[in-house]
Amino acid sequence: MIYLDSAATTPLDENVLEAMLPYLKENFGNPSSQHGAGRSASAGVLAARDKIAKLTGCKSEEVFFVSGGTEAGNWALKGACAANSERGRHIVVSAIEHPALIESAKDMRKFGWEVSFINPDKNGVILPDEIEKAIRDDTVFCAVMHANNETGVIQPVSEIGEICRRRGLFYYCDCVQTAGVLPFPSEHCSAFGISAHKFYGPKGAGVLCVKEGAKISRLISGGKQERGLRGGTTNAAAVVGCAAALENAVLSREENNKKISALCERFKNRALSEIEGTSLNGAGNILPATANISFDGCDGENILFLLDLKGIAVSTGSACSAGAVTPSHVLTAMGLPAERVSSAVRFTFGKYNTEEEADETLEVLKQSVAKIRSLNI
Ligand code: PLP
Repeated sequence: MIYLDSAATTPLDENVLEAMLPYLKENFGNPSSQHGAGRSASAGVLAARDKIAKLTGCKSEEVFFVSGGTEAGNWALKGACAANSERGRHIVVSAIEHPALIESAKDMRKFGWEVSFINPDKNGVILPDEIEKAIRDDTVFCAVMHANNETGVIQPVSEIGEICRRRGLFYYCDCVQTAGVLPFPSEHCSAFGISAHKFYGPKGAGVLCVKEGAKISRLISGGKQERGLRGGTTNAAAVVGCAAALENAVLSREENNKKISALCERFKNRALSEIEGTSLNGAGNILPATANISFDGCDGENILFLLDLKGIAVSTGSACSAGAVTPSHVLTAMGLPAERVSSAVRFTFGKYNTEEEADETLEVLKQSVAKIRSLNI
């Protein structure tokens, strides 16, 4: 298989699995238990928290273990609204956020909150001025992600963070696609979220970092875990794995970015120049791993299926629900025509991809696009 869908998920690194195994076997105790078995598990959790704090530029008390990016986004939005509602009932969310934020914002409407969704420009960038214009005296919360998962476009989060700080609102920055790729925007936001399975860690593990002074209520009520703010028995193996994977990612960031960027650039440039009727979606600063390309006269889903038949994994931005395909909300918000949206395919490279894989994909892609165009399907 040629796997070019690293923005969707990544395989577990061998040394991460090794770090996790003792917490699935001999250190199986409940980290909240007071006996030796519990203390062994809790030592792993404590060390993982400290490691993640150091790697992200946060304090250990600011690190909260969660189940991943979706929970981090839900908790940040709903928890910040609940804790800061004396200020008002309005939130500002970029229209290119992951559904974790978009759907959470829509949930708040059911409780009488007003939501302003802010569209990006045609390059896929959320302009700080647009955020500033949308903020009102009763705005409580703002979400603009660090980089978009479909286009890879990096957002001006330091400027947006500065606006939110000046206007006194809670700013959540979804860093799910940028953890281990870009430095963490810890000083620019009230909270940010990461998800271990995007950086060669386990699925179902992530972190919400809530900066000191930012007010947030709990989303999951239960025991006293995570300082009483997130109930539920801590998954020691998962958090140890998350910390080990983040350490790998941060320590080898430059090396990985260099390798991945060279592969992706080569693939992108060749695809755009050697296949007619192609356009790159998103412009400006783009993550090193991402190439989102539209192919005139083709349905992205058909390209995906033909590549899949040859053992190549890519993705489209469209979501399939109840048998119906919904066009990408990200490309649509950028104002791209429907044809270009439905013909988009996302290729995301990872640290295990090779030049041979990129070149082979290009050859299969050329044939697939030609076939679809000739059949006019
Ligand atoms: N945010 C972004 C930008 C993502 O790309 C994803 C996953 O694709 C998520 C949030 C959700 O993360 P998780 O799969 O850990 O729930």
